[in-house]
Amino acid sequence: MNEFDFIRQYLCNKQKDGNVLLGIGDDAAIVRPSLDMDWCISSDMLLAGRHFFTDTAAEDIAHKVLAVNLSDMAAMGATPKWVLLSAALPELNPVWLKSFCNQFFSLCGEYGVSLIGGDTTKGNLAFNVTIIGEVPKGLGLRRSGAAVGDDIWVSGRLGLAAAALEHLSGRYLLPPETAKICLPCLLRPQPRVALGRAMLGMAHAAQDVSDGLAQDLGHILCASKVGGQIYLQDLPTLPELAESLPSEILARHMLSGGDDYELVFTAPPGKRCEIIAAAEKAETAVSRIGKIMAGSGLEIFDSDGRPIYLKKGGFDHFSDG
Ligand code: ADP
Ligand code: MG
Repeated sequence: MNEFDFIRQYLCNKQKDGNVLLGIGDDAAIVRPSLDMDWCISSDMLLAGRHFFTDTAAEDIAHKVLAVNLSDMAAMGATPKWVLLSAALPELNPVWLKSFCNQFFSLCGEYGVSLIGGDTTKGNLAFNVTIIGEVPKGLGLRRSGAAVGDDIWVSGRLGLAAAALEHLSGRYLLPPETAKICLPCLLRPQPRVALGRAMLGMAHAAQDVSDGLAQDLGHILCASKVGGQIYLQDLPTLPELAESLPSEILARHMLSGGDDYELVFTAPPGKRCEIIAAAEKAETAVSRIGKIMAGSGLEIFDSDGRPIYLKKGGFDHFSDG
């Protein structure tokens, strides 16, 4: 099999989409934008050995490289529409590629996304997805809109993916039942697209939690030129995880563990009921974890009201540790 067989047999003509005038197979795709919509465009790259273990199953890699990009759309309140997939592959192994493509297209189908192009090259295993989503004109959720007095909300549960990573790396072992719940959070994160869309016109600011809550919420505070307070006991996690881990380790996972792919957002207190109703409709749990304050920086309090200091906000690829 060569590169062109791969493109023809595995990638072409998988979806139908009225906006796509020309899909895979030419020098570029042609897409006609919808009326009254803005585009949100983003890319996220996953490298073997850095973002996933080299022996990760093809299906899990396929899921994650698309899911992390869908999560960026969720954070904007955008509806994901089109993706481009660039792949560096050490070899064209039909079995591996079939598994990868099946999962990739299955997730595309679940979110109504079409693959419209990409690039394929020989090299160390690495993937990049570029994603384009639509949001009603002027409504895209930004990091910069948080206002003093806003509630801070987070979706889902925090720290499960970080615990799964420790478990897989052998730094500690989770009880089997707990591992069974945490591992899918690391390997198959569920992007909060429905929740993000539901927050349009409600949330003042939003961001997805990929590098740890403290760091990612910090981006909202910085962009919005405000401060924030959150309370450890209000952070949602898995009760079994709280039982099996020392409280400092659990706190570190919830605050600075990576790969949660939840949404953190702020909204005025007057919207509480609407947010809870919209989250229910989006079948996504949400928790109110703190407040936006005047000033700058994030303060974190434990259950005794004492401030907690984090050595490092979250995962930073270029920090010295
Ligand atoms: P070019 O030489 O112009 O870069 P290619 O031969 O690389 O064209 O690609 C041919 C077509 O196949 C293009 O439409 C391109 O977008 C698509 N394509 C190549 N690799 C991928 C991929 N990994 N995923 C999706 N589409 C791809
Ligand atoms: Mg090319």
